[in-house]
Formats: sequence, structure tokens, C-alpha cells
Amino acid sequence: MSINVAVIGAGPSGFYTVDALLKDDKDVRVDIIERLPTPFGLIRGGVAPDHQTTKKVARVYEKTALRDGVGYYGNVEVGRDVTMAELREMYDAIVLAVGAPRDRKLGIPGEDKAGVFGSADFVGWYNGHPDFTDLQPDLNTGTVVVIGQGNVAVDVARVLVKTPEEMTDTDIADHAADAIKASPITDVYMVGRRGPIEAKFTNVELREMGKLDDCQPVIDATQLPDQVEGEWSDRDKRLKDRNLATMKEFPDVDPAGKSKRVHFTFYAKPIEILGGDKVEGIRLEHTRVEDGRSVGTGEFFDIECGLVIPAIGYFSDPFPGVPFDADNGIVVHDEGRVSDGVYAVGWIKRGPTGVIGTNKPDGDIAATQIFEDIAEGTKPGREALEALLAERNVRCLTYQDWQTIDAAEVAAAKLGAPRRKFVTIDTMIAALD
Ligand SMILES: Cc1cc2nc3c(=O)[nH]c(=O)nc-3n(C[C@H](O)[C@H](O)[C@H](O)COP(=O)(O)OP(=O)(O)OC[C@H]3O[C@@H](n4cnc5c(N)ncnc54)[C@H](O)[C@@H]3O)c2cc1C
Repeated sequence: MSINVAVIGAGPSGFYTVDALLKDDKDVRVDIIERLPTPFGLIRGGVAPDHQTTKKVARVYEKTALRDGVGYYGNVEVGRDVTMAELREMYDAIVLAVGAPRDRKLGIPGEDKAGVFGSADFVGWYNGHPDFTDLQPDLNTGTVVVIGQGNVAVDVARVLVKTPEEMTDTDIADHAADAIKASPITDVYMVGRRGPIEAKFTNVELREMGKLDDCQPVIDATQLPDQVEGEWSDRDKRLKDRNLATMKEFPDVDPAGKSKRVHFTFYAKPIEILGGDKVEGIRLEHTRVEDGRSVGTGEFFDIECGLVIPAIGYFSDPFPGVPFDADNGIVVHDEGRVSDGVYAVGWIKRGPTGVIGTNKPDGDIAATQIFEDIAEGTKPGREALEALLAERNVRCLTYQDWQTIDAAEVAAAKLGAPRRKFVTIDTMIAALD
């Protein structure tokens, strides 16, 4: 009998796992279970709307979804519509590919004030993720502070300062495009505890900051060393050399005609978010780097701002029915094995690191483990799942349903844009009816 596998989550790690399971013509049936009506996880809801080339990886996942032997159950949430215990009865193996959808907390006073939005929420909002459509961040401020110096921070800063014209060929959600266009934001501070060499931007993202129509990158040239010092792998050293060269070009970017600025604020540690109920500023402490660690100098400074966006990493929620490592925000596992017949891949396994392709080896490992652990199937698989979902009146979407939603979004696109996103579950489902 076929081995029946349920992959929970239709993000990159889920699709790479399905692909790996089908690679060797083994007798296996794989069902993808996704809580949203739309697939692709952070490719749709995280990757920046102006990085459409990156989002094209979804075409590869589409081929996987349409392969023989693959079932697709959209708009079905494990923990709400079906439990892990029920899935264990139905499937020989279950792969958790549910990502890490929450923000790591700053852990400083004032973090809960109105006007502080973690990057997971803020990025979800501008990308039209239905969980964040009602976020309604108040952008009526001249200054925003983004905390973090990685690619997510740079994405957020860039989306806030690009002109509407620069965003025409993107799939930014309408509500976000309108709010950003109407906002008086002129200055975005991108704050990091360490220096320009330690910052985690990749070079393509960093270079974009020097090529914006209406925005000047502001950097303190005295903080830029002549060359990259310290112990780095060859690969990291090459990246840091490139980043340093890029940052050295920033002071030469012509400010003429540019009304906005992104300030690269190094050696600054967040101490407290200031204000009453609402953010009015942030207090930071100057730092220096000792043995790669940031150390406070005891000198403080404030930046007045109306919005603070921490972009310091992502975290998983505990997943119902599996042990959780609360310190690291991941599921407890041994090289991907969670418990008998349960495996983990992607960000729920490794935490929020790497690029899209970093999730691929996880899928290969999970497939190998499943075939090592399970010689042949004994559980009923999709017929049992379908019967249970029908009994509960769950509106379960097929992959073809998603293609209908996709076509409707593409058809509704404004001139130059790839699509106009539905931003609520109801409007997505209504597109089918
Ligand atoms: C803001 C941002 C920008 C990024 N930009 C880039 C980039 O430009 N280039 C790049 O290479 N990488 C980028 N990444 C990284 C990349 O997106 C991740 O490596 C990748 O998406 C992680 O894949 P995943 O499958 O583990 O998780 P996810 O992509 O989060 O997918 C998890 C899926 O599981 C579903 N799910 C969750 N819970 C349940 C449940 N209970 N039941 C059913 N389904 C569930 C979710 O809805 C989601 O679809 C970015 C990440 C972020 C956060």
C-alpha cells in the first residue's frame, strides 16, 4: 500500500519536501494542507512586493503541486479544522512545514505602545496577508525607526521610501500603497547594534538603496573602515568586501531633488520606546564592538519618531500537538525527526535563517528519513481527510481553486502590476463563487 504523507504548509519548505518525496518513483501519495486559500507562504506574504523576480520561484512549486500523486487542501488549518492527533490516524508520515510567523520581541520598555509593529505584521500588511489586513498602522509621521540591519529591515525601509511610480510594477496591497503614498514620511532610520561590517544585508538589497528615485542613503563615512578586518569565512569576507564598497559609494549619491533619506545608524542599541500610549520616539545607547559583540558605552541619544518597526528575526508559535522549544522558537526535533512519523522542515525546524533555497536540503532530508523509517503504508490518507473535512463543512480549496483566484488577481491588476491581491479570506473565496 502507498505511503501516505501529509505536508502541513504550502511554503518553500513544504514544496521542496513534496518534490523530494516524489523524486525516486517510490509508492507514495503526498497531500499538502495549507491554512490560507493562497499557497507559497512567505513568497507571497514576506518577499518584498518590488522583488517580483524572486517571487517567480512559485512557478516551480506550481509544477510540483500539479504532479500526479499530489493532493492539495487549501483553506484548511491544522489545529482548527483538523488536529494533529487526527492526522496521525490518517497518515503514515506528517511533515511540519509551517514556518515561523511571529516577531522576535525586543524586550525593552515601551514595546507595546501603539505605533510599534513587528516586521512580520508590517510586511504581512503591505503584502496583503489576510491576517494583517486590518493592522492599520498610522503612517502620519515624518520619521520611522526600523530596528535591525538585515534584508527584512532593508525591505521595509525601501518600501516606505519608494515613490508610487517605483511601485507600479509590484503587487503591494492597495491599502498599503495608498497609506504610504499619503504619508508624510521623509526619514527612515535603520538601526543596528553593531557596525557596517557586521550588518547582514546581502549586496543586491544594499545596492538598491543607492539607486532610489526620491531617497538618499545617509551614512557616516567615518564609521566605514578602510577594509574588512576580522575572522570571516572566504564567502562572508567577499560579501562584506562588496557591502563595504557599496556603502563607500553612498556619500557620493547626489541628493539633488531627493526628498527622503534612509539613515544607516550603526553602533546603536534600543533601550526604550518613548511616549505615552503612542510612540513618540526611541532611546538608544551608543555601542562599540568587542570580540564581535556589541557593548554599550553608557552614552544615550533619542530619535523622535511616530512608528517603530523591529525587524530582528522571526519566531514560531507552539504548534498544537508537538513539543516546542520556546527558547529558540522552533519545534523540538532530532535532525528533523520530531516523533514517530512526524518530521519538520524549513523555518519551524531551523529558525528564520537563510534564503529560499536553504529550505531545499530540509526537504531532501525529510524524504530520506521517511523512506528509512516507513517501509510501507498502513494508513488511509486523503480519503479519510476528505471525509472528515466534508463532515465538518470545511470549505476546502483545490489547487485549481487557487489558480482561479490567481487568474482573478492577475485580471484585476492595474497597468504594469503583476496582480491586484485579494486581502481577505472572504474576497478570495468569493472569487470562486
Ligand atoms: C520579510 C521576508 C522577506 C524575505 N525575502 C526573501 C528574499 O527576497 N529572498 C529569499 O531567498 N528569501 C527571502 N525570505 C526567506 C524565505 O521567505 C523563507 O526562507 C521561506 O519562506 C521559509 O519557508 P517555510 O516553508 O519554512 O515557511 P513559510 O514560507 O512561512 O511557509 C509556511 C506555510 O505554512 C502555512 N501554515 C502555517 N501554519 C499552518 C497550519 N496550522 N495549518 C496549515 N498551514 C499552515 C502558512 O500559511 C505558510 O503558507 C524572506 C523572508 C521574510 C520574512
